[in-house]
Amino acid sequence: MVDYLISGGTGYVPEDGLTAQQLFAKADGLTYNNFLIFPGFIDFIADEVDLTSALTRKITLKTLLISSPMDTVTEADMAISMALMGGIGFIHHNCTPEFQANEVRKVKKFEQGFITDPVMLSPSHTVGDVLEAKIRHGFSGIPIMETGTMGSELVGTLTSQDIDFLVEKDHTTLLSEVMTPQMELVVAPAGVTLKEANQMLQRSKKGKLPIVNDRDELVAIIVRTDLKKNRDYPLTSKDSHKQLLCGAAVGTHEDDKYHLDLLTQAGADVIVLDSSQGNSVYQIAMVHYNKQKYPHLQVIGGNVVTAAQAKNLIDVGVDGLCVGMGCGSICITQEVMACGPPQGTSVYKVAEYTRRFGVPVIVDGAIQTVGHVVKALALGASTVMMGSLLVATTEAPGEYFFSDGVRLKKYRGMGSLDAMEKCSSSQKQYFSEGDKVKIAQGISGSTQDKGSIQKFVPYLIAGIQHHCQDIGAQSLSVLWSMMYSGELKFEKRTMSAQIEGDVHSLYSFEKWLY
Ligand code: IMP
Repeated sequence: MVDYLISGGTGYVPEDGLTAQQLFAKADGLTYNNFLIFPGFIDFIADEVDLTSALTRKITLKTLLISSPMDTVTEADMAISMALMGGIGFIHHNCTPEFQANEVRKVKKFEQGFITDPVMLSPSHTVGDVLEAKIRHGFSGIPIMETGTMGSELVGTLTSQDIDFLVEKDHTTLLSEVMTPQMELVVAPAGVTLKEANQMLQRSKKGKLPIVNDRDELVAIIVRTDLKKNRDYPLTSKDSHKQLLCGAAVGTHEDDKYHLDLLTQAGADVIVLDSSQGNSVYQIAMVHYNKQKYPHLQVIGGNVVTAAQAKNLIDVGVDGLCVGMGCGSICITQEVMACGPPQGTSVYKVAEYTRRFGVPVIVDGAIQTVGHVVKALALGASTVMMGSLLVATTEAPGEYFFSDGVRLKKYRGMGSLDAMEKCSSSQKQYFSEGDKVKIAQGISGSTQDKGSIQKFVPYLIAGIQHHCQDIGAQSLSVLWSMMYSGELKFEKRTMSAQIEGDVHSLYSFEKWLY
């Protein structure tokens, strides 16, 4: 096919578009929406596009997607799902060091199919508590534990059949009176494999199978509705012990060293120094400290938006750099601090500098669509950190609530007053030591229910592969060599081009993405 085109070609073909260098040569900053990428030549199928990419100098991911260390985005559930699908999650630090380390431990100890922190109650809870749990968590099969917490003895379970025929006045009935007691349950012994447990669950014809140790303490459960979902995850991000990869955020203050100690004990693989302006003596000192005390721990610095900022952090040995300031969806840094260039420009300028040192760039903030992901990669980014795209999914922390009939979850900036009231770490991230007056750099809002990332992330992956196919790049290294050689062409998008590129001329429409 290619031979035919060359021999049958018609000679001179005028050049289209601008190289990346030409696009960013002028001082006016560009956002992702300010430019488009020209298509190339397709000679492979989208499935063949390899999205393997470096997160840090020593960690490589198969799907380049990262969840942001925000308290409405990443705790253990999100980090587990992201790792299963070939990305990674960074556990936020707007919590106690013990809580954060425990979330990391949950990820590292995760065994697919086993639920190790189910919703549970004690015999002294009431039927009303079960109904409330059902509203919040959407199911009613609940292990009843002696103390209502993991690690205590399993004394029974409660399913909807146990309470179906109770009337409203029975809501104060104690669970000890209605639960199915332990001796009538089918349980599996700790150490059972997922395959064996699944077979036992099928034979038992029950909805759940509790797994208990020799002291009758519950260690996990498996659930019938998950049987079909216990699928293979061929892209899973794993460490050398075959445990899921997990990241965590820390700040640059003295007491963050304690966070760091607990995180490394819990098995964190990589930490991100979470700062809105990373070019500081505090961050440089923290990188030094990390590298001396935990030389094997990968350290991501940031955030930076210029090559000069990046240089200082590369000089002290960061293994990756977060790029982005003031561009996050919940961020008011550009408005309040007047800092932070448009994200497209920051990404291109920083990545163009850091590639000389083998330090990968993580774009952080402003990713609104799968097209933005591809644009970030085409400007030299290696991986993509997302907040708003992942918030309000099933795996994001927080409960759903309704407003005007719409199912929502909260999303808040870590520099919002709301987040800063919860714990002190986000205060430190967005304020300087000794600040007397707090100035918020983020807002708090809500986002519509997006369902599970088990569907959304595969959509993102397929979308990126299709874009790369359009461009004619079968891997990220091909994409970058096309971009840096000038073969990949871009064009600025005028306001009218943006309007033309959006849905238009319809009276009404529905927009479903996948
Ligand atoms: P998003 O993906 O556009 O929603 O941006 C998420 C990113 O915004 C995070 O990963 C942080 O880098 C950044 N961010 C989080 N909270 C704040 C804040 O309160 N102010 C400014 N930036 C924030």
